[in-house]
Amino acid sequence: MTSYDLIIRNGNIVSADSVQLGDIAIKDGKIQEVAYGRKIDGDALKEINAEGLHVFPGLIDSHVHFNEPGRAEWEGLETGSKSLAAGGATTFFDMPLNSTPPTINAENLALKKALADQKAVVNPRFWGGLVPENIKDLKGLHDNGVIGFKAFMSPSGIADFNHSDDETIFKGMKEIASFGSILAVHAESTVICEQLAEEKISQGKTSARDYVESRPIISEIEAVRRIISYSEATGCKLHVVHASSRKVVKIIEEAKQRGVNVTVETCPHYLALTVKDLEEKGGLAKCAPPLRDEDEVEELWAALANGEIDVIGSDHSPAPASMKTITDNFFEGWGGISGAQSTLNILLTEGYYKRNLPLEKIVKLTAENPAKRFGLSTKGKIATGYDADLAIVDLNESFTLHNEDLYYRHKHSPYVGMTFKGKVKNTLVNGEVVFENGKIIVDKVQ
Ligand SMILES: [Zn+2]
Repeated sequence: MTSYDLIIRNGNIVSADSVQLGDIAIKDGKIQEVAYGRKIDGDALKEINAEGLHVFPGLIDSHVHFNEPGRAEWEGLETGSKSLAAGGATTFFDMPLNSTPPTINAENLALKKALADQKAVVNPRFWGGLVPENIKDLKGLHDNGVIGFKAFMSPSGIADFNHSDDETIFKGMKEIASFGSILAVHAESTVICEQLAEEKISQGKTSARDYVESRPIISEIEAVRRIISYSEATGCKLHVVHASSRKVVKIIEEAKQRGVNVTVETCPHYLALTVKDLEEKGGLAKCAPPLRDEDEVEELWAALANGEIDVIGSDHSPAPASMKTITDNFFEGWGGISGAQSTLNILLTEGYYKRNLPLEKIVKLTAENPAKRFGLSTKGKIATGYDADLAIVDLNESFTLHNEDLYYRHKHSPYVGMTFKGKVKNTLVNGEVVFENGKIIVDKVQ
């Protein structure tokens, strides 16, 4: 008889290739045993009866902006990470902006890490930034454990995080390749977006549709083609974030076919919302690249089902309500969606229930693939020796999302009012129950 810290009994354990009934035993933050179709012998300090529930590997959200230090009035590591735990996510990769100072050297990274150690209730990881002035600092960031680097090919909207011109990108990629790391890019064409926006604004055309038309899919395609060429020329691993259209994904798919080391992310908002939502919800649904039309959304789901997309990241990019209010000019107001708490809800409701997306695929996109791509060797799977990062979900429970359910600093989201099927009951981080009965029950990650 072995003693464990925790045994989860009789859950439907979801992995990237199966859903099977079983028990999971946890000790010292690690999964000690996974028993399919039989009971684990032994006792534990705590048992969770997961009968009728599904146990997922905790989501790894590879794309969030928690904005701390320096802009915690927009979100913060505590509120941001709590929202993730409430949504079944157990690890986040925080972007180098919109914190101030941005994570563009080892010193700034240390500041953010120290704050995350105090405040985060799920596992923190960090992206470093690539900006024109910091090529010399990339190695130091890498040596201090960043997941990879993020660059903007078009203006970021944040004054202290400059976007990278082509020369910077090329130099940066050579440098990043030299130590085997990866570059993630916001890929939109500066030339196309800026000139189209100028035209629209000068003609007084500032509706939601005008904003969307000023950032067309071709602008993403142009930037993605260019960055793939740079990846081929430098040998630098590449990750394209927030692709809004399957047309963009196709370009990446073709590059993969010829051996380019490139992966692609999309976000829940491109799967759950359309231009119509931007027109109706205003600033809450403003992001860049912008939301697309319904046919594009369906194509994106098809790409997901077909394995063309590697990772789902929330691109949670919150701001105070005052910055999200748009009256008539959609070129004004913060572009960024608050959504980190709802990723799994959207994939289950809009994917699994509405479009038959298998649960196994959801695990691949939200846990196994990001863990593999970004070198988290003990995460992303429910298996012996892995970290006990888990989400226990009642697939049959439905709920309507209300503002007060949100853990964000600013309790708004374009998903408020949506009815979801599939509710997170418990979230475990390193074996510790962090979220239970609709409440966060710990102060920081153990
Ligand atoms: Zn982002």
